[in-house]
Amino acid sequence: MPSERGDEPRVIASQPALRVIMRRLREIMAEPGDGQSRLDKIVHLVAGVMVTDVCSIYLKRQDGSLELFATEGLNATAVHQTRMKRGEGLVGRVSELNITINESDAPKHPSFSYRPETGEELYHSLLAVPIRRSGDVLGVLVVQNRTMKEYSDEDVEVLQATAMVVAENLISGAVAGSEPEFEISKSISAVIKGHAISDGIALGHVVLHEPRIVVKKLMADDPVAEMGRLEAGMLELRASLDELLAHETLANDGEHRDVLEAYRMFAHDRGWERRLREAVQSGLTADAAVERVQNSTRTRMLRTGDAFWQERQRDLDDLSDRLLRILSGRKSTDNHDELPPDTILFARNMGPAELLDYDQSKLRGLVVEDGSGQSHVAIVAKALGIAAVGGAIGAIERVSAGDAAIVDGVSGQVHLRPSQDVIAAYTDKVRFRARRQRQYEALRDVPAVTKDGKRISLNINAGLLVDMPHLQESGADGVGLFRTELHFMLSHTLPRLKRQIEAYSAVLKQADGKPVVFRALDIGGDKELPYLRHPKEENPAIGWRAIRMSLDRPALFRSQVRAFLHAAAGQELHLMVPMVSAAGEMDQIRALVNKERTRMRKFGHQGPKKLKLGAMLEVPSVLFELDQLLQKVDFISVGSNDLLQFLFAADRGNSYVANRYDSLSVAPLRALKSLVKACKRHDVPVTVCGEMAGRPIEAMVLIGLGFRSISMPPASIGPVKSMILNLDSRSITALLNELMRDSTGSIRSKILRFAKAEGIEV
Ligand code: PEP
Ligand code: MG
Repeated sequence: MPSERGDEPRVIASQPALRVIMRRLREIMAEPGDGQSRLDKIVHLVAGVMVTDVCSIYLKRQDGSLELFATEGLNATAVHQTRMKRGEGLVGRVSELNITINESDAPKHPSFSYRPETGEELYHSLLAVPIRRSGDVLGVLVVQNRTMKEYSDEDVEVLQATAMVVAENLISGAVAGSEPEFEISKSISAVIKGHAISDGIALGHVVLHEPRIVVKKLMADDPVAEMGRLEAGMLELRASLDELLAHETLANDGEHRDVLEAYRMFAHDRGWERRLREAVQSGLTADAAVERVQNSTRTRMLRTGDAFWQERQRDLDDLSDRLLRILSGRKSTDNHDELPPDTILFARNMGPAELLDYDQSKLRGLVVEDGSGQSHVAIVAKALGIAAVGGAIGAIERVSAGDAAIVDGVSGQVHLRPSQDVIAAYTDKVRFRARRQRQYEALRDVPAVTKDGKRISLNINAGLLVDMPHLQESGADGVGLFRTELHFMLSHTLPRLKRQIEAYSAVLKQADGKPVVFRALDIGGDKELPYLRHPKEENPAIGWRAIRMSLDRPALFRSQVRAFLHAAAGQELHLMVPMVSAAGEMDQIRALVNKERTRMRKFGHQGPKKLKLGAMLEVPSVLFELDQLLQKVDFISVGSNDLLQFLFAADRGNSYVANRYDSLSVAPLRALKSLVKACKRHDVPVTVCGEMAGRPIEAMVLIGLGFRSISMPPASIGPVKSMILNLDSRSITALLNELMRDSTGSIRSKILRFAKAEGIEV
């Protein structure tokens, strides 16, 4: 994660390397010679000025492969011979993901691809930046050294600036002799696999999100006038945001509101403004300064691999594009008048405010090349009810405006120019979903009772205020898991007591009497808060997180408890603690909670009518201390996501291992069975709130094991309830007893066979 220091801008004018390179590049472009000789001069120049052993330029071919066009340092015979396939090697990765790679020992990188004809086995360190124009990657510029070293931020900036100039001149044909080739497979059907970030299915026509403004002029003729342009642009940017965010469709509260407010604050960020000013002072035009700062910050933020900073980068990209449009005199809503009535928006990346520039009555779907389910644009898309797919790498290159497209915000697929069969299948699917939705809606007020009369409590998982309306819509019994850390993660600063009280009160108000189980902050590990210092950890998932932080540094936990106690005044408060690893920890937690209750009474505040304190069962050690733990808690909630990852020692976020083990295997099922038994013995309510509870087949097994309460994403309530209404819990229990006695490993196929025989849709 970039520290504030690491994020400090360098004053570009003071970088001699950059100045020398810029001057010489201008001369090279003006000198007589063909495109190839210019490229040769450029690699020679860069290697000399940056003191690297190698500098190479790869340019993109029509089929997406990257061809070595010029090199200083690698075998000259490899030029125009070496071609990296789309996405191959580190160079392919830079091009495909549009990122900078800075590796001190590149051959050790999992994506490294060795080409013997280049002689590159000698080189360890590698810095590679995309050569891009208007968001399109045209090629890759690479430097390499024999020694193992990490290139400095200054090196990165110099190489990126060089790539900018190469890109600009590629477009004008001044280097490489001709227009670069782009993949022209824009007439056939294609499917892109991304991930669903906002539920729904949309059929429509492609609108390419405003391609980036091309900055044509890099160096300023009149720096004072450029500074004036920058200042005027910033003023207009801020005013336009105020107007946009005041829009009535967004006026209601919700987590999207927090996201947008944080975004607005970013536009006022002094560090950003200072970096822009310094870039203008160094001799760039205001437009080039915006692009420079955007690129150099992107490199630093993306290098952290930290989701929080990556999301901030998207906000910055959004703001930078907006500022570029203002500087170029174009309105953000240009061309939006001609939107088709079934617009499917394609964007390389997108900030939350940009989506709002579009006429929502015409927006059906959204495809973003980067962007996860937690991205800010995803949160806004969900709030607007637009089907969206993120992580759709390569989508932009493969479409043209006006193409037909289908966004499957359920499976995460995007169909480009779908055939009539696919359109028909999806039209059916949309109809089917609407019908199913009506059926589920019809079940809304039907209690979830099995055929043999077992009432199952169905609850939703939530984390944002925007999730809360689902509680009433789905007819769920309550909120089984409210992940409070999301509010903290979306905030720029530590939410103070007042803001926390407001947030939890709003949640309880929307719950309208239905129980809400608040989970105390589950931060640390991979969920870092940028405003809290956190040590770098080798294994964050089993590191200093959740309850461990709360016990070592109780201030934050106590302030959160104080907020819960205030927010739930006069009501019942359900509070649960994540990552409990030993029964004794609950004594310490209860003592902290009691301290807060006493303090509250002392100040004459009314506390909650009743307080139930629970533990999440996520760490296997407590399975062997259940008799002790269950005496200390009012309820247990199984966090099966973490429990399974720890039981199988398989990182839930690592796709190589996450799907290696089946949740429907006898080992975890035996663990869960023993838990249900122990809870019965101690008369302690138990529930499951991990993802498995939301999948009908797994929910069926949980009921078979004896769970009578489960919590899941809101969209799962309908399918799970429908399964329950067709289930005889005695038969699944009998089957499980038999299978768990005799089987090993996964029993999924046997369970599926059972469901089929019983006519239960799972
Ligand atoms: C879990 O681990 O199952 C859980 C519900 O918590 P989270 O997914 O937030 O870690
Ligand atoms: Mg967990």
